Amino acid sequence: MFSDETLMCCDCEKPFVYTVAQQEIHQNKGYEHKPKRCDGCRRRKNQAVDRHQKTSVGSGLSDRDLILEVGKSVQELRVLVSNEFRKLQQAIDEIFPPEGDDDATQKEDHGNG
Ligand SMILES: [Zn+2]
Repeated sequence: MFSDETLMCCDCEKPFVYTVAQQEIHQNKGYEHKPKRCDGCRRRKNQAVDRHQKTSVGSGLSDRDLILEVGKSVQELRVLVSNEFRKLQQAIDEIFPPEGDDDATQKEDHGNG
């Protein structure tokens, strides 16, 4: 028969009880070794492993990376378009000068007369 054992936790170095129930579970699962950690430390360790696996799992780009990639190309496109727009604006100004300029030249003509 099993009996409660007091073991030392390798993490917090405090004694914890390895209960008969736990020993039975261990035997049912075929574990040969006694637990090294108390319940609290074991749970913390398992959570840490879970979190690590969740963050490292997942291939390719994350959503944030994808948004950054798209944002970069949109910004490049915007620069390209605004450069072209400025050139176009200059060309339009040459072909169709603003009306204010016409008034100025007419006044100069009158002065010369
Ligand atoms: Zn512990």
